[in-house]
Amino acid sequence: MSSLDDFAREKLKQLRDRSLLRTLVETTRTDDIWVVRNGRRLLSFSCNDYLNLSHHPAVKAAATAAIERYGVGAGASRLVTGNHPLFTELEARLARLKGTEAACVFGSGYLANAGIMPTLTGSADLVLIDELAHSCMMAGGKLAGGRALTFRHNDIHHLEGLLKEHRSNHRHALIATDGVFSMDGDLAPLHALADLSRQYDCWLLSDDAHGIGVLGDGRGSSFADGRKADVPLQMGTLSKAIGGYGGYLCASQPVIDLIKTRARTLVYSTGLPPASVAGAIAAIDIIEQQPDYAARPIAKARLFTRRLGLPDAVSPIVPILIGDAKAALDASQVLENAGFLVVAIRPPTVPDGTARLRVAFTALHPDAEIERLAETIRSATLTPS
Ligand SMILES: *Cc1c(COP(=O)(O)O)cnc(C)c1O
Repeated sequence: MSSLDDFAREKLKQLRDRSLLRTLVETTRTDDIWVVRNGRRLLSFSCNDYLNLSHHPAVKAAATAAIERYGVGAGASRLVTGNHPLFTELEARLARLKGTEAACVFGSGYLANAGIMPTLTGSADLVLIDELAHSCMMAGGKLAGGRALTFRHNDIHHLEGLLKEHRSNHRHALIATDGVFSMDGDLAPLHALADLSRQYDCWLLSDDAHGIGVLGDGRGSSFADGRKADVPLQMGTLSKAIGGYGGYLCASQPVIDLIKTRARTLVYSTGLPPASVAGAIAAIDIIEQQPDYAARPIAKARLFTRRLGLPDAVSPIVPILIGDAKAALDASQVLENAGFLVVAIRPPTVPDGTARLRVAFTALHPDAEIERLAETIRSATLTPS
């Protein structure tokens, strides 16, 4: 018996005892909204494919054509030979959509934050991160190697207190937040964060993974209320509403030039496959040409929250708080028995004691099914009142 296997077995046992063990379930996404799991066809409310573009004919055709023309893989880092011509086009399109001078495409959203934050800040600097921001922001903050602190979720006063206490001890300071919080579906107060950033000479980074394609005519959370928030660093992913895979940063030309020469997750990682880049360009075409379609996921989420008497949804994500991890798994099973896939979200993805169902709405969910889901949740008394 090796100590390595003993270590793994003991860890697994502890997780299983606390209902925190996770295992992969083979899932076949057959079309826009349906999945097959364990031999059952289920209506999925757990995909982040908010505009159902992963299966859109025009997006698939663009990806297929890119494979035929440029091959399956990029062949090397973008800095070597992996920078196929589709990158230039996608970066121009992203910059235009986000209203910035330039953009840089990364291998994934996770890689983007793990590359951006250490490139812009170092040991002399301060990084302040919303406590509910995505795991990759926490990772980026740690990799940066300076002082990384979290502020209470969306709490401007707490953040200002931390700035008063710590800002003057550091050379540069970065404030980092999700634009749309991935497990709660609420929005960051980007205008207030931008004001504080100006006041305390900080740089503001927002992670728009769940905003691009669905908020502000598809332009993202910085455009959510029709007034552009002053966010100099807008990162995000191509893997949610854009329907494919990859990450990006939209920023000024000098910042993007620096990122392209120094961000380790860009320099030392292979460029995205041509199909992913071509698919993203086709997805952005659809978003720009059809703002009404981009507005649909939130309208669907609102139908659901109104049915359940919950506050109006402000994003396509609606959490149903359960609390206990085991109870969240049981609740998910109740919905699965009714033909719905709503995966339970447990710690450490969410704080201890806040396990939940996370319901994600997409443009093509039929209203009648949303009403049936709400009714199933109500009759199983999964919501308070
Ligand atoms: C999904 C997600 C990411 C990671 O993006 P990938 O492209 O999947 O690596 C980053 N930030 C947030 C807020 C996310 O929800």
